[in-house]
Amino acid sequence: MRFKIVIVGGGTGGITVAAQLLRRWRALSGEIAIIEPSEKHYYQPLWTLVGAGITPLSVTVREEERVIPPGAVWIRDAVELFLPGENRIVLKSGESIAYDWLVVAAGIQLDWDKIDGIREALESGTVGSNYAFDTVEKTWNALKRFEGGMALFTAPNTPVKCGGAPQKIMYLAEDSMRRKGVRAKATVRFVSGGTMIFSVPKFAATLNRIVRERNIETHFRHNLVALDPVKQEAIFENLESGDRVRMPYDFLHVVPPQSAPDFIKESPLADAAGWVDVDMHTLQHKRYPNVFGIGDNTNLPTARTGAAIRKQAPVLVHNLLAAIRGEPLSARYNGYASCPLVTGYGRLMLAEFVYGDVPSETFPFDQAKERFSMYVLKKELLPIIYWDGMLKGVM
Ligand code: FAD
Repeated sequence: MRFKIVIVGGGTGGITVAAQLLRRWRALSGEIAIIEPSEKHYYQPLWTLVGAGITPLSVTVREEERVIPPGAVWIRDAVELFLPGENRIVLKSGESIAYDWLVVAAGIQLDWDKIDGIREALESGTVGSNYAFDTVEKTWNALKRFEGGMALFTAPNTPVKCGGAPQKIMYLAEDSMRRKGVRAKATVRFVSGGTMIFSVPKFAATLNRIVRERNIETHFRHNLVALDPVKQEAIFENLESGDRVRMPYDFLHVVPPQSAPDFIKESPLADAAGWVDVDMHTLQHKRYPNVFGIGDNTNLPTARTGAAIRKQAPVLVHNLLAAIRGEPLSARYNGYASCPLVTGYGRLMLAEFVYGDVPSETFPFDQAKERFSMYVLKKELLPIIYWDGMLKGVM
């Protein structure tokens, strides 16, 4: 089989790019293949609200076939091998597909097995994670049962998708404890492998005030490495001393370590850290000019979010079409990303920024303040923009 354009991954980036390409150039109909093994497509940003019992899980998932744009060919398989020197990929089924142009949008990999005991712990009723479809409801089930004691929220020292998500659930959980009347009996603790609460100073100032005012403990440079679900203990590595530190818990929200998907890490498309090695402004691969990358699997030095992809996609599409026509790549991505930091039931601070952690705000007010209007934007408006705008290639 051969296609003019092959897109690896039918998630946020892959579908948005396919839909925009087909809108801009109808003649590509039948010439674009999307390789995607999953029968389902997820709107992951709402998992934060699912974990807090606000939104039902069912609204975050649709059949993949419903989001494949008309004119694109869906190949239900996984890519195993990139052969960019031969303009070919090999699928799990063994089939080989040739392409003129390749777009890599396979997302980020959740490395659950780097935490010993995680599988058992996730079945224990006190542990959840908003990071996967099949673990997010466990967060709310465990929170509902929580009547006081130690509530731990972890973040790994690896890159993650949506850097704010590990703490969004903590603010929601803390708020839910107040509403339930158990906050006075609880310790709320954020244990992160990172070095600070948030990388953009303007928004970090608000978050640091919130943790102080709401009496949330923060521990940095501590990476979760193991769980003992019988004793209800989490074992962290102190990244400075190398010591193991044990913390008991009565509720635990885990964010798994994350990395580039293995099949990308092992391919010629990867940089030294395993990510698809693209130019930070044009999104073209640095060594293979007929390859482009988008989203969480790239080494773009910005936050891995769907909001970033909303700004990356038109740049990629413009530059890919220019490359096909032999024209210079004139569109440039400025690193825009956004992180809607939910800070409680009905409160949100919308952090928006570009390369260099420079704030870049959309609204004519100070976005470093928590607002109800921004919460409504995340809960009600952004899902519509996603399903009916981004995935249809119109935003
Ligand atoms: P994905 O959408 O994950 O898609 C990757 C696709 O590649 C998947 O469908 C996968 O099945 C497929 N794939 C994997 N391996 C292969 C293979 N071998 N061959 C072919 N296909 C393959 N973003 C925001 O903008 N705002 C938020 O508030 C926000 N909150 C979040 C909260 C949580 C809890 C989580 C988990 C994420 C959140 N995000 C948020 C991040 C956002 O969902 C991701 O950044 C975005 O979905 C990434 O898109 P992507 O296309 O790179 O990857």
